Amino acid sequence: MTTHESTPLEHPVLAQACAVMREAYERGWISTRDGNVSVAMSDRRGFLVSASGVIKHALVPSQFVFVPADPAAAGAANTALRPSGELDLHRRLQALLARRALTVLHLHPTHIVAALYAGRNLAELSADFPEVTRYTRVGPNIPALPATSTELAEACEDAFQPALGPAPHILGLDRHGVVAVGKTPWEAFEHVERLEHICRIALAAGHRHIHHPDTIDEETGHVPRRP
Ligand SMILES: [Zn+2]
Repeated sequence: MTTHESTPLEHPVLAQACAVMREAYERGWISTRDGNVSVAMSDRRGFLVSASGVIKHALVPSQFVFVPADPAAAGAANTALRPSGELDLHRRLQALLARRALTVLHLHPTHIVAALYAGRNLAELSADFPEVTRYTRVGPNIPALPATSTELAEACEDAFQPALGPAPHILGLDRHGVVAVGKTPWEAFEHVERLEHICRIALAAGHRHIHHPDTIDEETGHVPRRP
C-alpha cells in the first residue's frame, strides 16, 4: 500500500494536458518539442507547467514543474526539470486569469500562423464565422515578438485584459502561434481547434472573399473580377 501524500504532480488534469499536447502533435500543430501548457492548482497554491524541451507527443505528468504562486515558496518544486521557456507568459496569465481559467495552452497551429503571416486580422476573420464567435472570443493579433521574451509575455498579458469588453479566449502571435485559455486543457484546445478550422477555410478561399454586397457592380449586377 502506498503511503505517498498527494503531490502537485498528481493534479487530475495533468493527464488531460498531456493528451492535449499529444493530439496537437498528431494534428501537426507543433513539432516534437514545441508548445507548452500550464494548469492551475485548484487550491490556487500555484500552477504546473510542462518542462522545457521535453517531447510533447510523449509528455507525462512527471514532466511538469510546480511553480508556486508565492515566489517565497520556490524550491519546493521538483528541481530535475526546468520549466518551459515561456514560463513568464504562463506565470503572468495564470496570475491574471486565476479566477476564470485553469489552463494556459501555447501551440503553433499551421493555418492560424499562415493566416497571421498573410496579414489577416484574426478577430475580424472570426467575426465572419458564427461557429467561432458563439463559443470563442478571439483577441487582437500580437505582433511578431521573440519567443520566450518578456515583451511577448507582456503583450499577451495586456491583450487578455482589454479595457473594454470581455477577455478573449485565444490570441494569435504573428510568425509564431497561439495562446489559448480554458477551464480545462480540452476547453483551451477547442478554442484553438475552432480558430484553426476557420483559418484553414479562409486561406482556402484565398483573397477572393467579398466582405460587403456593395462590392457588386451596380450596372452589371456582378462582382467585378479581380486581377
Ligand atoms: Zn512557441
